[in-house]
Amino acid sequence: MTTQPVRFYSTNRGVEDVLLADALLQGQASDRGLFMPRTIPAFTSEQLAALVDSSYAEIAHAVLRRFTAGMVDDARLQALCEDAYDYPVPLEHVVDRTYVMRLDRGPTASFKDFAARMMARWMGAIMQGDTDLVILTATSGDTGSAVAHAYYGVPHVQSVVLFPVAEVSARQRRQMTTLGKNVTTLGVDGKFDDCQAMVKRAFSDPALSSIRLSSANSINIGRLLPQSVYYVYAYVKLAKKGCTEPAVFSVPSGNFGDMMGAVLAKRMGVPIRKIVIATNANDEVPRFFETGTYSKIVPSLVCLSNAMNVGHPSNLARLVDAYGGWMDETGAIREKPDMGRMRGDFFATSVDDAQTRATIKQAYEKHGLLLEPHGACGWAGLGRYQAAHPEQTGSLMVSVETAHPAKFPDEIQSMLGIDPPVPQALAGLEGKPEHFESATTAYEPFRDFLLTRFGRK
Ligand SMILES: *Cc1c(COP(=O)(O)O)cnc(C)c1O
Repeated sequence: MTTQPVRFYSTNRGVEDVLLADALLQGQASDRGLFMPRTIPAFTSEQLAALVDSSYAEIAHAVLRRFTAGMVDDARLQALCEDAYDYPVPLEHVVDRTYVMRLDRGPTASFKDFAARMMARWMGAIMQGDTDLVILTATSGDTGSAVAHAYYGVPHVQSVVLFPVAEVSARQRRQMTTLGKNVTTLGVDGKFDDCQAMVKRAFSDPALSSIRLSSANSINIGRLLPQSVYYVYAYVKLAKKGCTEPAVFSVPSGNFGDMMGAVLAKRMGVPIRKIVIATNANDEVPRFFETGTYSKIVPSLVCLSNAMNVGHPSNLARLVDAYGGWMDETGAIREKPDMGRMRGDFFATSVDDAQTRATIKQAYEKHGLLLEPHGACGWAGLGRYQAAHPEQTGSLMVSVETAHPAKFPDEIQSMLGIDPPVPQALAGLEGKPEHFESATTAYEPFRDFLLTRFGRK
């Protein structure tokens, strides 16, 4: 059977459809829109049932081959999946038919590993010739280390990571700054949104046309597709335990890439009853759902769950698009999405720091469940959903844990009085030398830096 390659369109509707390899290399479309698959090949329930005994890598292959036709062949994709997904994906039973899916067992102990590792391997597979690809990434914490690790040592690729110096933990910083080689890190004296703005501007800057730039941010469709896989995985593995009813997934959200993975999975035929969107105090999206009016939070608020400190999520344009509307790159809604259908599919709620702390304590005392601040937002959001829907008590619910508790040792120690066990991935960073350059939020020096480093001489 030959599979027709899926084509990708821009949410700003100003460019021709492209194939995956193009969408990957461009990152953002030239009309500043975000790429979305024109068609989303669905699984039949028989096809889903056939995956119950498959490994994570095999399920990733089954999902992703629907999008990669024409870019990498099946056998190569299978090998890339095996190589990228060589770590466990625990579905921890908590109570009734409620589970926590731990996406924190990859090399940088955050869920960003799932997408970054696949995308890096895809780019490695399609890059050839003598120009290096320069991957620009703005990070609020975990993306940077996941991306830096994912591309570390990949030939023909340079990785440049911008992070807000004051907003990442020492351990998060060390995960990025101790690598070296083809990984360059810039500590920006500003917020995540500033880093993101610098990166976005670089992508549309004609003065940088001599550099082959690409992105690994969650605006890249290569980041999104792999994030649909674990929802498929969770559903088929829990179905094997007899939980075959539609699932509720609670997703701690910042830039909304993870949540869009769930939307894709739903469109692929995974029975999903509801997607709970749990943000921290940056509540622009829950307010949007409530009021139908969208306004960014500028500057974004600093919260414990620092990877979710986003005042204007880039993937929101994709969500609006998926529900028939149009949000442009400035965050303005040009055409309204179907709010009724959105409210039916999602339950959006904001969890502040006090509630995050209380949740970490409660989950541990009541269930022996160890959460860190991001996963605690998801768990608290799920609790609110359950309170609003007592009739669904005892049906299948999965809360997503996106980082390892050991990434937040001080918070965990102060709240629970325990030291979370440090996974191998995080051990041994303290002694290593760090390398990073300091930068302001001004754009021009950043441009000059890129030209000096990577511009054709
Ligand atoms: C990035 C991140 C999030 C938010 O994910 P989005 O896809 O940006 O919504 C949540 N938790 C952790 C630990 C993260 O690193």
